[in-house]
Amino acid sequence: MKKFSKPFTQQEAIPEDAIRAAVSVLESGRLHRYNTAKSETAETALWEAEYAAYQGSKYCLATSSGGAAMQIALRACGLKHGEKVLTNAFTLAPVPGAIAAAGGVPIFVETNENLTIDLNDLDEKLADTGAKFLMLSHMRGHLAPMDELVALTDKYDAKIIEDCAHTMGAEWRGKKSGNFGIAACFSTQTYKHLNSGEGGLLTTDDDELMARAVILSGSYMLYEKHGARPDMDAFAEARFEMPNCSSRMDNLRAAILRPQLKQLEENIERWNTRYRLMEDYLSKVEGITMPHRPNEERYVASSIQFLTPEWGDERCRAFVAACLSRGVELKWFGDKNPVGFTSRFDSWRYAPEQKLDKTITILNRVFDMRIPLIFTKDDCALIAEIIAEEFKKVA
Ligand SMILES: *Cc1c(COP(=O)(O)O)cnc(C)c1O
Repeated sequence: MKKFSKPFTQQEAIPEDAIRAAVSVLESGRLHRYNTAKSETAETALWEAEYAAYQGSKYCLATSSGGAAMQIALRACGLKHGEKVLTNAFTLAPVPGAIAAAGGVPIFVETNENLTIDLNDLDEKLADTGAKFLMLSHMRGHLAPMDELVALTDKYDAKIIEDCAHTMGAEWRGKKSGNFGIAACFSTQTYKHLNSGEGGLLTTDDDELMARAVILSGSYMLYEKHGARPDMDAFAEARFEMPNCSSRMDNLRAAILRPQLKQLEENIERWNTRYRLMEDYLSKVEGITMPHRPNEERYVASSIQFLTPEWGDERCRAFVAACLSRGVELKWFGDKNPVGFTSRFDSWRYAPEQKLDKTITILNRVFDMRIPLIFTKDDCALIAEIIAEEFKKVA
């Protein structure tokens, strides 16, 4: 029996030019973003300007993590303590975590077979809860039908904050993910589309929101040094009203990220080539359902998901174990016990208990796999073959 032997958690090396930029920051000793020599612009400020240009947004704030960007976004939008925030039931722990940390109460919305937010349930919950915020998690890079979704939140006058941790570089009908709501959050943590170990970004076109966000991030009174900020008068109130939440990015990480952004387009193609190869193979296996990818979506497939029939816990676990014994690491979202990076909404006990039958049924059927770029196309072909063989045995 063929086996696969590469690690699923190994990313590519940081590019040479990024390493050189990092060394240069280290040699300068000026790692803090506000520690600049005379007439020098900090790496962090340059990075913010470059990312804003890439994203096509007016403003950008670099933060210490994606989760920090989400907390700051919610607070900068005016979230009040105890206020409800809608979010996807199928997402990862930093999302409800950010809502809770910002003082909000996470209310989960059902997920459909395409692994996107269920618009009918969203409609009902917007009506029932009167929630004014939707933290929209583009989980595993699947984009909901964005035109319908925006029309729906507009109907209720609710604001969308996009969690683009898995959609940096993705588009819906030619418009970049992250440009559909009032603000968007990105992560540059090691397993995302750019790698600075930890790190995050917040983008928006809103002057007041960005001014508040900059102060919240811990800018002291040095916000003039930011790379993609509104005019100084936008800070007039925010500088007194917003607490300093010390969530800044530093120059070392920014220096590592700037050269990586230049490679993003190329990497998107590399991810998508690998994805399509596996999608093509798995979609031909009877019993496996691939999430539908609409034509309007330009995805960035840094991971792959597929659905099996309703098997029950025992068979799902046996399938994961069989794949693992041949070197293929699948994650199963149906597990009641939080494991590794995955946990299910019903294990987030700080949120009120909620019943989401549709999501549970979907999660019981979803298997998920990272696609690290160290994997070659041949690697991906072998992985798909192993998954298909083990699937047939269990099915
Ligand atoms: C990684 C991730 C984030 C943000 O993560 P940080 O580790 O805080 O940078 C947010 N949402 C999702 C879905 C994620 O996977």
